[in-house]
Amino acid sequence: MIQIYLPLHFLGFVYREIKHSLADMEKMFGLLEVNAEVKDKPGAPDLRVNAGEIRFEHVDFAYEPRRQILFDVSFVVPPGRTMAVVGHSGAGKSTLSRLLFRFYDVTGGRILIDGQDIREVTQKSLRAAIGIVPQDTVLFNDTIYYNIAYGRPDASREEVIAAARAAHIHDFIESLPDKYDTLVGERGLKLSGGEKQRVAIARAVLKNPKILIFDEATSALDSKSEKAIQAELKRIAENRTTLVIAHRLSTVVDADRILVMDHGRIVESGTHRELLERDGLYAHMWALQQQEDIDGLKPAAAVV
Ligand code: ADP
Ligand code: MG
Repeated sequence: MIQIYLPLHFLGFVYREIKHSLADMEKMFGLLEVNAEVKDKPGAPDLRVNAGEIRFEHVDFAYEPRRQILFDVSFVVPPGRTMAVVGHSGAGKSTLSRLLFRFYDVTGGRILIDGQDIREVTQKSLRAAIGIVPQDTVLFNDTIYYNIAYGRPDASREEVIAAARAAHIHDFIESLPDKYDTLVGERGLKLSGGEKQRVAIARAVLKNPKILIFDEATSALDSKSEKAIQAELKRIAENRTTLVIAHRLSTVVDADRILVMDHGRIVESGTHRELLERDGLYAHMWALQQQEDIDGLKPAAAVV
């Protein structure tokens, strides 16, 4: 019995671990299956992250051969700087983050981190260097503690709590009957979109990566909570190379540089001020959002 039980138990453990990490990555990126075409080259070295420079060089990409999604995308995020990416839904913004994480390989051009082509290094080392706060966070059916600690499983309890505080979710957790031991996920307490985003932010804080990606990381928060957490994200992004994909333009005005994407191409880039002066797509989107914000502030009676 024991001889059979032990290996099975062990296999079950391994299976659960693999399933956990696959489920996380898949769902995090909205993939239906893990792309088997992305493989480590035999004997690939680990990525050596020094300053953390991100460089896209003439990147083309297509999920399916007949429909190109990205066209000749080139940009550099200097070490420690923040680059914002804006553009209409479907422009290809999230695709940039999927490519940087190497869930797919580019079909043309290349992506470099500190001068190393990301296809030449191990995926494990690449993904260890990058923290992502995605649009939709998937929680494991486990405790909220486990879900935060997943960012760095060897973290101490103090570090997990500090990360939860930074993500403004500690007080909420403390208000739950089982506190950090509360079961969450589909079979536990269902968290709201905003609470899940805070868990993802806590995970990223705990992971403490050199490179950060926020993919509409605060889109599920109301604008008051968004403001509060935005300040926190800014602090977290200090001294890290950060790519911020934003839906609300007011959150990117301070970015070192803003890329404007449209139909898979970079159509404008510059600071907020430069882009407004240019009076192009960005200025147009800005004007539209200002108007929406004003409309949103009108009392309900006036709207009716
Ligand atoms: P954004 O984040 O700017 O809204 P995405 O990068 O998610 O846009 O998507 C860009 C385009 O790629 C869209 O037209 C979308 O339909 C398409 N797309 C995204 N994911 C896939 C996929 N897994 N397979 C095929 N097409 C996809
Ligand atoms: Mg997106």
